[in-house]
Amino acid sequence: MKTVDLVVPCFNEEEVLPEFVRVTNEVIATLPQYSFRYILVNDGSRDNTLLTMIKLAQEFENVKYISFSRNFGKEAAMYAGLEHTTADYVFVMDADLQHPPAMFPDMLREIEEGHDCCALYRKERKGESVLRTGFSKLFFALQNSMSSVKMPYGAVDYRVMSRQMVDAILSMGEVQRFSKGIFCWVGFDTKWIPYQNVERTIGKSSWSLWGLFRYAIDGITAFSITPLRFLFIVSVLMLLLSAVVGIVAIPFIFFAPHFATFFALSGSILFAGGILELSLGILGEYIGRVYVETKQRPIYIAKVSNIKKVRNNG
Ligand code: UDP
Ligand code: MG
Repeated sequence: MKTVDLVVPCFNEEEVLPEFVRVTNEVIATLPQYSFRYILVNDGSRDNTLLTMIKLAQEFENVKYISFSRNFGKEAAMYAGLEHTTADYVFVMDADLQHPPAMFPDMLREIEEGHDCCALYRKERKGESVLRTGFSKLFFALQNSMSSVKMPYGAVDYRVMSRQMVDAILSMGEVQRFSKGIFCWVGFDTKWIPYQNVERTIGKSSWSLWGLFRYAIDGITAFSITPLRFLFIVSVLMLLLSAVVGIVAIPFIFFAPHFATFFALSGSILFAGGILELSLGILGEYIGRVYVETKQRPIYIAKVSNIKKVRNNG
């Protein structure tokens, strides 16, 4: 019998978790040819998520959990979950039922047909603010134009992967993880299928607009150095522009000297200052990232769990 592990990052999900397991168990019951196991990761929740997990583990013996010593973020939670998987096929999905378990049969069918992975993207973004949809569109456009990893618009972290692909993902030991990019970077054959976006009915989303903005910057800088190249292009353009300004200013020196110096000076100082600030900002983003990676800190620290770690990826 093929085995399937379900990796589920959870942050303050005490309300939805029992419902998640109930709904998922219903779907699992329709797939007797597979043996399922839950790997729930408590990402330092401030509510009783851990207690809920322990209770679920007492009720169902296929419920495993790992609980962090603090909130390390969804990326770390996904990594921890994957690190503990042993199954032939591994799902990654949210706990809030926005990633409907009813999609399991379709997704498993794709992987049985020979794909290494089946991942989902949202068809529409009903129930989301115009601003958030706009930012999201911009993010996917920038990400795809700047970096070598391409992902469809609306790609979500709901997917099933083969053992081989999961091992490839785990071999990437970067601390600042951007899974959407990592999933694409490792290659393999991914079948993308659309699904209807479901609104969260229990609990609330933990993303702020600022959080999403940071996430987008992380994604772009993790997989592309285009912004750094952009700096080089801008400095060449600046040099050309200053040459042009110099030439244009020559007649003014004879006819209106005060006028010419004032505008030339203030204009060029502002312009150069602005470009310098921008350059330093972009450089700073990358240097900060190098700084964090060189520390080689662990991606997460677990405090309690009822599952043994099988591999050591650092
Ligand atoms: N999550 C997590 N750690 C965090 C934030 C979120 O593990 O710091 C989990 C959360 O419990 C959920 C998933 O990541 O299972 C997606 O979170 P959320 O529903 O808040 O995001 P959205 O669906 O709005 O993108
Ligand atoms: Mg959600």
